[in-house]
Amino acid sequence: MPHRFSPPTRRPWFQGLFRWLGSRAAAERDLMFHLAPGLQVILDREHRVQRCNPAWEVLLGWREDELLGTELVRLQHPDDVHVSREQGRLLLEQGLSVTGFENRLRHRDGTYRRIRWYARQLEDGRTYGFGQDVTEASQAERERDLFYTLAPGLQGIVSPDGTLRRAGQGWKTILGYDPAALVGHRITELVHPDDVEPTRAAVIRAVARGDHGTPFLNRYRNASGQYRWIQWFTLPLPETGELYGFGLDITELSEAQARFRSAFEHAAIGISLVGLDGRLLEPNPALCRLLGYAREELVAMTYKDITYPPDLEADVALATELAEGRRESYTIDKRYITKSGQLTWIQLTGSRVLDADGRLLYFIAQVQDINERKRAEERLTIANTELSNALHELRGYEMQMRRIHELSQLLMVCADRAEAYEVMQRVFGALLSDHPGYFAVLEPQARQLLPVFQWGEGEPVEAPIPVGDCWAMRRGEPHLVLDAAHDLACHHVSRDEHGCACIPLTVNGRTNAMVHVADLGNAAEAKRVGALIETLGEVVKTSLSNLDLREHLSEQAIRDRLTGLYNRRHLDDQLPVEFERARRKGQPVCLAMVDIDHFKHFNDDFGHEAGDEVLRAIGRYLRESLRKVDLVFRYGGEEFTVILSEADAAGARARLEAIREGAKGLAVWYGGDKLPTPSLSVGVAFSDADHPDPESLIRAADRALYRAKDLGRDRVEFSGGG
Ligand code: GH3
Ligand code: MG
Ligand code: MG
Repeated sequence: MPHRFSPPTRRPWFQGLFRWLGSRAAAERDLMFHLAPGLQVILDREHRVQRCNPAWEVLLGWREDELLGTELVRLQHPDDVHVSREQGRLLLEQGLSVTGFENRLRHRDGTYRRIRWYARQLEDGRTYGFGQDVTEASQAERERDLFYTLAPGLQGIVSPDGTLRRAGQGWKTILGYDPAALVGHRITELVHPDDVEPTRAAVIRAVARGDHGTPFLNRYRNASGQYRWIQWFTLPLPETGELYGFGLDITELSEAQARFRSAFEHAAIGISLVGLDGRLLEPNPALCRLLGYAREELVAMTYKDITYPPDLEADVALATELAEGRRESYTIDKRYITKSGQLTWIQLTGSRVLDADGRLLYFIAQVQDINERKRAEERLTIANTELSNALHELRGYEMQMRRIHELSQLLMVCADRAEAYEVMQRVFGALLSDHPGYFAVLEPQARQLLPVFQWGEGEPVEAPIPVGDCWAMRRGEPHLVLDAAHDLACHHVSRDEHGCACIPLTVNGRTNAMVHVADLGNAAEAKRVGALIETLGEVVKTSLSNLDLREHLSEQAIRDRLTGLYNRRHLDDQLPVEFERARRKGQPVCLAMVDIDHFKHFNDDFGHEAGDEVLRAIGRYLRESLRKVDLVFRYGGEEFTVILSEADAAGARARLEAIREGAKGLAVWYGGDKLPTPSLSVGVAFSDADHPDPESLIRAADRALYRAKDLGRDRVEFSGGG
């Protein structure tokens, strides 16, 4: 343990000095030298240690006897040697005392202590030095200096009036000023004019409060004239009444923040931070507008409050996945309920914000108004449906048209109405499969409609319908019964037909047929069916009237105009048919030629007109005298041909004789006069081996007729003389 007090016996220099001074004052000084806590040393002219006190051992671990005669330089830090020599030389040459000179001396344990020296040259050329150990203090100071130099902010100490007392290196790096040049100036000289007053107030407040105070923000002008946003943290220094300030340049941050804020505020889409409890923490103005709520109202709500309940489940499921980190974001179309209770379609994109440790802080909801898109989608769907309906209808229509065309083609080649009805029944049945009905033609004389065919599953209709029983026929326009309770049904409709219609078909202003159709259901279907029947009706009625015309024309071609009997041409056509029929039945054809006697004179006596009237009367008489199955032709002039069906010779003679005889009693009137009736001569022949064909048969009958004439007329002669 180092001693603090060395006994005099161990200090020969002490006794010498004591002797030399020999006074009480010298003893006190010696005591001070011995006991003072500082390092005391006396160096000889060569700067070698001549005396040193026990403090050396306490502070540096060196005993006096180890140091005597040693140059102090040997204890010095190598970096300080040069400086110390310089100082020592100055002392020697100028005889000055030095205060505050510092150097580092090596401790016995190898560390260095910083010593601040107060030194003076004595009159005899030696040097007295007093050293204070300032190692700790200077360390703190150096650390403080380092902080002032290296810390990344503006550091300064200001007096309450705002004068900068101390300035760190940050003033250079951040604002471009030399810190030393700023000391002594008011900080407000560099503050933005708008921020001067608030800054002053903040300084005074910070000093007065005596605590850390509230951080405050102001703008400082940098060396190039631009303003930077500085965030200040202050700490009052109570000893001096000054204020320590530490300022950070947050210009970039606040600009980024301002940009973000602006984007958020002015965004066209709705944005909100959403808390983990679903609350709308920060709805932006666009979202407020979209929902019709004020910001204050929205922040009190959760997203569940504003979501249309049927759409909630899907959203919650996705939000849960997001919260659990199973997805980074999601997008969903859903409906919100606005403040006024309206539904509004939106597209929501949900994402999340995590802290540095990856913990979920909150969600971000981005909300886009998609009502227009949804409406367009709906319109598109409707348009698509309409289009496909139209297409379907068109296909149906095309099918109908094909069938109708087919119908008109078929009707054109139909030989008669019976065939036409067969074709019509098939086509009506195909086109109106869901609507049973029937087709009736007008019989004008009887004033009744005769059903000629029907289709579908309706009740069989056969009995003629009196025209008066049908409203459509009476009024000449379609009659529709959709509601059996209210609409007036025709008398011929006996039961509820679930909507039925009678549609008259008119040609040249004359109604000649009627279509009845049932199971129409609703008005739309009735309209469709009505239109279809109208089209069918056009084809049918034209075809039927063509058919009638054709029948009429062909009838005309085979009839004799004067008498209305079949003509010679028809005989030519018909005779082979009769031969065939007779052959099948194994019977002969019986053919008679009937000629009016002396008709020439009749004409001559009464005129050609009267002759015509007689020809008509005889024709009528022949027709009426014969059975329906027998055929009568006007062969030409005043000659007629009769074909008797299934007659033997005796039967034929009996019937023809009766006719010849009956003709005499025929009364023929002309111009108010009763004309005399001419007699008839008849030649008869049967087909047989000698007369196997029409020509030979006619020739045979002719020959028989000549014979009748030759034999005196008014008689019946048989071929072969029988
Ligand atoms: P016969 O007893 O020999 O048969 O004497 P007929 O005069 O009847 O015979 P003929 O063949 O000499 O004369 C037939 C006459 O019939 C000549 C012609 O003027 C007349 N005739 C022919 N067709 C018509 C007609 O359509 N109308 C009228 N009014 N007369 C007709
Ligand atoms: Mg004749
Ligand atoms: Mg004649």
